[in-house]
Amino acid sequence: MSDVSDLVAAAQHTPVVVIGGGIGGLVAAYECAKVGMPVTLLEASERLGGSVRTVEVGGIRVDAGAVSFAADGAVDKLVAALGLAELGLDDQRVAQQARSRFTTSPRGLVPLPDGVLGIPANPFLTDVVRMVGWGGAWRGYLDRLRPPLTIGHENRLGALVCKRMGAKIEQRLVAPVTRGSLGLGPDDVDVSIAAPDLNPALTRQGSLSGAVAELLGAASARPRLTLAHGMETLVAALERRISELGGRILTGTAAESIVRAGDTYRVTGRRAAGEQDDAEAPGAEEFSAAVVVVAADEHAARPLLRELVTLPAAFSPASRLTTVTAIVDADSTWGAGVYPQLAESDIASIDDLTAQWRIGDSTRVVRARLSGVVSAADASAQLQRVLGVAVRDAVVVDFEAAPHREQRGFAAVAARLRDPNLWPAGLGATGAWLSGTGLDSVVTDAQNVTERLRRGVLFS
Ligand SMILES: Cc1cc2nc3c(=O)[nH]c(=O)nc-3n(C[C@H](O)[C@H](O)[C@H](O)COP(=O)(O)OP(=O)(O)OC[C@H]3O[C@@H](n4cnc5c(N)ncnc54)[C@H](O)[C@@H]3O)c2cc1C
Repeated sequence: MSDVSDLVAAAQHTPVVVIGGGIGGLVAAYECAKVGMPVTLLEASERLGGSVRTVEVGGIRVDAGAVSFAADGAVDKLVAALGLAELGLDDQRVAQQARSRFTTSPRGLVPLPDGVLGIPANPFLTDVVRMVGWGGAWRGYLDRLRPPLTIGHENRLGALVCKRMGAKIEQRLVAPVTRGSLGLGPDDVDVSIAAPDLNPALTRQGSLSGAVAELLGAASARPRLTLAHGMETLVAALERRISELGGRILTGTAAESIVRAGDTYRVTGRRAAGEQDDAEAPGAEEFSAAVVVVAADEHAARPLLRELVTLPAAFSPASRLTTVTAIVDADSTWGAGVYPQLAESDIASIDDLTAQWRIGDSTRVVRARLSGVVSAADASAQLQRVLGVAVRDAVVVDFEAAPHREQRGFAAVAARLRDPNLWPAGLGATGAWLSGTGLDSVVTDAQNVTERLRRGVLFS
């Protein structure tokens, strides 16, 4: 037998169980099915996609969960490789149309100046003075006069901005941006990860605002994209490709335990009572596998892994976030959206999906992200208050929140979680709690973890 036919046979006799049908699990299952490994994917809920969730609001399909990905990034490449059109799915990628953001002020919504993580290039711009007053603007300007040698390297964003440009700029311009885009206060953001070019530019320019001006001048940020009929199109494409390749997908089936016996793992799944009359009977089912990929969220993954891997403590306590997606009857446009000032509401950000992605056309659709679990009535009331317009047809969904790569300390914990010595042969885990939240990170991580597991079992 040739080496290649040996490999084909080995792949066909290496059963895989993937636990979790979010994007991480679907990509892991697809990567294994692609090389001929028999794959079974277990998803606890009745639907695939996890934090990718398209809902219908006032008859329009919009994303309540993840909406965008970077042009030419891991998701974009995956979309191209899956061949959506070939599967009969709309493969139209839509580029972001509006980038400007607004914030709240006593005079209503006002534009946020262009900047890096909210830091302005020029403290005397009208939009800056409006938010921080003349005192705050002059304090920001002192940054230009400070000797470069006092700079040093400060990786806490909040401390860096306060030191160089003052607390008003940090609180009124930077904090809404970090909270809105990363769910973090400025001091929890690691500058070296969130804006890796900022400290080197600061050393070159001698001032923080100068560094921001340099970066804005050189800006060649990759455009953000979305899928015309919602990100669940990607979920549907992965589901179809996995099935075409012979993979089995069981929704409504939660993994309850993983036990190792020699080179084999036994995964016990429990089927919940199905919603449909013809659904399979509820009960436990056992699956045998040479490879197990745990792609559930952290909350569910840790208990499954407890007996098999000694994991470092959780990076942050489990938390949830809520989104409210609704129609607004307003002529106003909010560009990419609104990052409210701190402590005004639970709302961290509002996306103007119509201005940003041309969703809805003549109907305006917005989506707010709130920290914690918030009731539908409360979420709608808060959205209405911040925008100052009536909202209707609100759809409220809550999600498990995962840490951001940009959060201080996360990189070190993630590296410890990835220590290869922790993981027995054939067992791996992937997902936002390990890679940091974000579709591109999750897809890349799932591809890397599967590649490592495949090599381990097929080439050893
Ligand atoms: C509101 C919101 C907006 C976002 N916006 C963006 C965005 O615009 N762009 C971007 O790049 N990223 C965005 N993200 C982040 C991105 O959506 C996530 O990082 C990513 O989808 C996480 O995928 P995952 O597979 O790791 O986890 P999840 O999507 O959480 O999937 C885990 C799955 O495991 C299942 N599961 C749990 N326990 C078990 C069990 N015992 N057995 C079987 N299955 C189990 C769960 O039901 C779930 O389906 C957003 C996230 C949220 C919440």
